[in-house]
Amino acid sequence: MGTAVWTAIDGGRLELGHGQGQGQGEAASGCWRQMRDAEGVLWLLLDQPDASTNRLDEAMLEELDLILAEIERAPPKGVVIRSMKRSGFIAGADLGIFRAASDARAVEAKLRRAHAVVDRLAALPVPTVAVMHGFCLGGGLELALACRYRIALGGASLGFPEIQLGLHPGLGGTARLTRLIDPLDAMTMMLTGRPKQARAARRAGLVDVVTEERHVAAAVRAVLAGTHAPRRPGWRHRIFTTTLARRLAAHRMHKETRRRAPAEHYPAPYALIDLWESLGGDPAAMQAAEISSFSRLLVGPTAQNLVRLFFLREKLKAGAKGGHDIAHVHVLGAGAMGGDIAAWCALRGLSVTLADTNPQALGRAVRRAAALFQRRAGGSLAARDAMDRLVPDPKGVGAAQADLVIEAVPENLDLKREIHAALESRMKDGAILATNTSSLRLEDLRAGLRCPERFIGLHFFNPVAQMQLVEVVSHDEAAPETLDAARAFTVAIDRLPALVRSAPGFLVNRALTPYLLEALVLLDEKIAPETIDAAAEGFGMPMGPIALADQVGLDVCLEVARVLRHGLPQPFAEVPAAIEQKVGRGELGRKTGKGLYTYKNGKPQKRARAAEPDPEIADRLILPLVNACVACLREGVASDEETVDAALVLGAGFAPFRGGPLRYARTRGVAETAAALGRLAVRHGDRFAPDPGWETL
Ligand code: NAD
Repeated sequence: MGTAVWTAIDGGRLELGHGQGQGQGEAASGCWRQMRDAEGVLWLLLDQPDASTNRLDEAMLEELDLILAEIERAPPKGVVIRSMKRSGFIAGADLGIFRAASDARAVEAKLRRAHAVVDRLAALPVPTVAVMHGFCLGGGLELALACRYRIALGGASLGFPEIQLGLHPGLGGTARLTRLIDPLDAMTMMLTGRPKQARAARRAGLVDVVTEERHVAAAVRAVLAGTHAPRRPGWRHRIFTTTLARRLAAHRMHKETRRRAPAEHYPAPYALIDLWESLGGDPAAMQAAEISSFSRLLVGPTAQNLVRLFFLREKLKAGAKGGHDIAHVHVLGAGAMGGDIAAWCALRGLSVTLADTNPQALGRAVRRAAALFQRRAGGSLAARDAMDRLVPDPKGVGAAQADLVIEAVPENLDLKREIHAALESRMKDGAILATNTSSLRLEDLRAGLRCPERFIGLHFFNPVAQMQLVEVVSHDEAAPETLDAARAFTVAIDRLPALVRSAPGFLVNRALTPYLLEALVLLDEKIAPETIDAAAEGFGMPMGPIALADQVGLDVCLEVARVLRHGLPQPFAEVPAAIEQKVGRGELGRKTGKGLYTYKNGKPQKRARAAEPDPEIADRLILPLVNACVACLREGVASDEETVDAALVLGAGFAPFRGGPLRYARTRGVAETAAALGRLAVRHGDRFAPDPGWETL
């Protein structure tokens, strides 16, 4: 009896071997290989050429269609679909095909063709089995849903992440998932984008069997022998075939969704709920309507901006050419930033020594690290290993062995210069020295260093574990190899590096500061904080500037404003005296329980929300931020618009569905946005004067 078995090999691919007896008829072409085993079962093995991961595209489906036609002519005993990539089954669609889609009808036509192939798979007259390992996402899961049975390997992750791109499933997934499992569970999966791990997927009824690699052949034999009746829709499904039940559930979903994202900014969840509410009782109609709903969403601005952002993130990663030899990081300063940077590096597998003159700061940092490892390491053994990699080093001996030293002591030029000089004399040859300064010029810091070419800025954002962006800061004497290694290191610790030139506030703080300062001026004009925050949130910022200033700390905001005021040619709003007084009284924001808001259990106590977000207030907040981005581009602080947009979304939370500040300006119209700034300048002062960079944008 022939039994297909799998052996992991190098190069990211799995290779098919055979148990007793040989399989027959192996054929290779394009994405799919075919192998008929001795029991007459046809194995369709997916192995997209020149890729480490399978991604669904037109060519893959067209080739599958030809294979399905052959299967219909000469049906095998069964059909098994599985991936030959070590990374997993299929990690969703190739997003390149979504990029710059602008014609909904053309998208619909392509989708109808793709649905026809998947429907053909679903209608095969022989049992079909999807065997899934690793990532099985989006279109990959939709292909698996069209099979009669699903087998998942431990560790497989099954999900529909489309909502994060402003979409919902588009290859029949909305209808098939809501029919297969509890429709409320199905809707939650699609509305949140959260994947299910193999065992949770089996409990939900999404897969029939969870097994290990060595038992795959036996599991396939068992399901083909009929040991598992194909899943039929359960009683929960029957309840929701009634319009009334769906209407009640959809009402709740709408309400929940409205709390998270308004329909005008993020239409996809609403479209998905409407689709299910109106057609959830009729799978064929729901599938047909899914095509037009998906097409409309895809050509809309939200999905296009979010798809673009996906590629911008890839671009930030791809900008990190080559590798790095950083295995040991020494962090100096175990405060809010240094402690968390050290913990993050240890979590990501590096050896870390952490030094501070204050033993209590070290103790606090280690406690915070332990909590991070508990949450994020993936199990107690991994958490213990991460803890072992993080070594408190009160005497700072680690600096001599480290490949990278990150300095995160208080923001003081003289202190930092003194510390850099002492470090440099002890660091080994070739090691890199990085500062986490957020406002000091690197040209001032590098003066006096023996090896300025190996000195750069690595500007992490707070909180380190949540903020994906790191500004990699260059200066006039930094060596390209140092910058390359720093970017590669940043990617290796799972952060996204944006290369910026040393300038006051670099890119993100430079753009964020006029936004925060204008909010303080509005407050001084007696506009309620809730009204100011509502205007920014109405624009799409995840948090209003008043709440943000409180979170960052009013003392920190004042300090950054002071530094930038010195360093920048552009005028800035004055910090109102009332804010200075607050800081003088120790009302620093959330950390002291009182700032611009009063805090209870860490939450701002907002009074009744302002009626409607005010567009003039939104312009006064957002346009100075956009103006600063234009200035940064003109001055070469960032090299291109894409870096600016990605950095502001990732580092400052700029409304993602708008695609970034410069994308927003382009969508609104460059001339109109500059003119709006001009009008604000006439009414409120020179701080709104459009930067000269608008003329060449
Ligand atoms: P912090 O005050 O929380 O921590 C600084 C730590 O450095 C303290 O624990 C202090 O004991 C220690 N220290 C002081 N002198 C030292 C010395 N000679 N040797 C060793 N340790 C010494 O400050 P922070 O907020 O972590 O900021 C550190 C740096 O990071 C600053 O340059 C700041 O501008 C920058 N930064 C801060 C944030 C933020 O949100 N806090 C964000 C980005 C960057």
